Amino acid sequence: MSGTLRPVTEIYLDRLARVRAAMDAQGVDALLVSVGHDLPYLTGYHAMPLERLTLLVVPRGGDAKLLIPRLEAPRVDEQPGVFDLVPWDETDDPVALAASLIPSAGEIAIGDQMWARFLVELLPHLPSASYRRAVDVVGPLRMAKDQAEIDALAAAGAAVDRIAAELQAGRIPLVGRTEAEVSADLSARIVAEGHQKVNFAIVAAGENAASPHHHAGGRVIRDDEIVLCDFGGTMDGYCSDITRCVFTGDVAAAAPDIAEAYEVLHEAQQAAVAAAVVGTPCEDVDRTARGIIADAGYGDYFVHRTGHGIGMEEHEDPYIVEGNGLALEAGHAFSIEPGIYVPGRWGMRLEDIVVAGADGPQPMNRADHALASLG
Ligand code: ZN
Ligand code: ZN
Ligand code: ZN
Repeated sequence: MSGTLRPVTEIYLDRLARVRAAMDAQGVDALLVSVGHDLPYLTGYHAMPLERLTLLVVPRGGDAKLLIPRLEAPRVDEQPGVFDLVPWDETDDPVALAASLIPSAGEIAIGDQMWARFLVELLPHLPSASYRRAVDVVGPLRMAKDQAEIDALAAAGAAVDRIAAELQAGRIPLVGRTEAEVSADLSARIVAEGHQKVNFAIVAAGENAASPHHHAGGRVIRDDEIVLCDFGGTMDGYCSDITRCVFTGDVAAAAPDIAEAYEVLHEAQQAAVAAAVVGTPCEDVDRTARGIIADAGYGDYFVHRTGHGIGMEEHEDPYIVEGNGLALEAGHAFSIEPGIYVPGRWGMRLEDIVVAGADGPQPMNRADHALASLG
């Protein structure tokens, strides 16, 4: 390692400084982050979710240490000044090692994805400590994306937009294929468009589209039905997620009820995107979409929240849901994805990723919003 700080190290130094400020403000004496996405957010290192303990320990006053199984240590890019690497050997007790770095009567923040077994083993070492979730400290930072993160979300969004455009142009064959075949096709395109990983590719035809998280199966797609496609992946550490529906025929002639409902859905989705301005509570964005759908008589058919935060994870804070009074801040990234689902008949959803910005909501997806008729 050279002694010069690379720009990437500066990113992690800045994040660690902000974590320390949040720890001070909240009286947290130690932050413990294991597998999950807080670790790469703070260190750049993705730990495999294995039985050996990987743990970032950030004591309020002391240097951060990354405890790591010695055999994993070569995978870590050291970030000078961010953390010291502390490899442990097969016969060491890594939990005791962690406990020795933590004030024994402190307030300790634990990452959501630390295995329960390690926490259970840690508790007897620190009988006077108190505990809370690390999301109190790291969550607000992770929610407010910086420009590099927004650029990554935009690049991932543009990639799935290109796939959506192919779908809407009829260049992804549907009729006569099974949902699973189309799902595999979408998955291959997600990778071909530059994602390292496919997270999901839901394809739901006709009555199957009424199940929001339908698992693509052997159902053969027919003429004159709606096909819902909801797909995304991870590109350079950040996620994409888009939903578009197409109709395998002339929707106005074959299914005027679907065409009519889709107009309502489109209006609701666009109104919710427009409502997603800095300062607006998340639940108000949900109410905007829900109100329009309910006023049109479809309220009972919109059975899920309006959206979820997105970033390093497909689903993360902030959730766009009734009961979440959190006010949107610049850099918050989330989906706006209302749906209408009529059991046994059809379903539809329209989803874009949006970032709240100083100049208003910035869409990360620009694929056409209309229900394409593929006749
Ligand atoms: Zn989606
Ligand atoms: Zn989504
Ligand atoms: Zn539109």
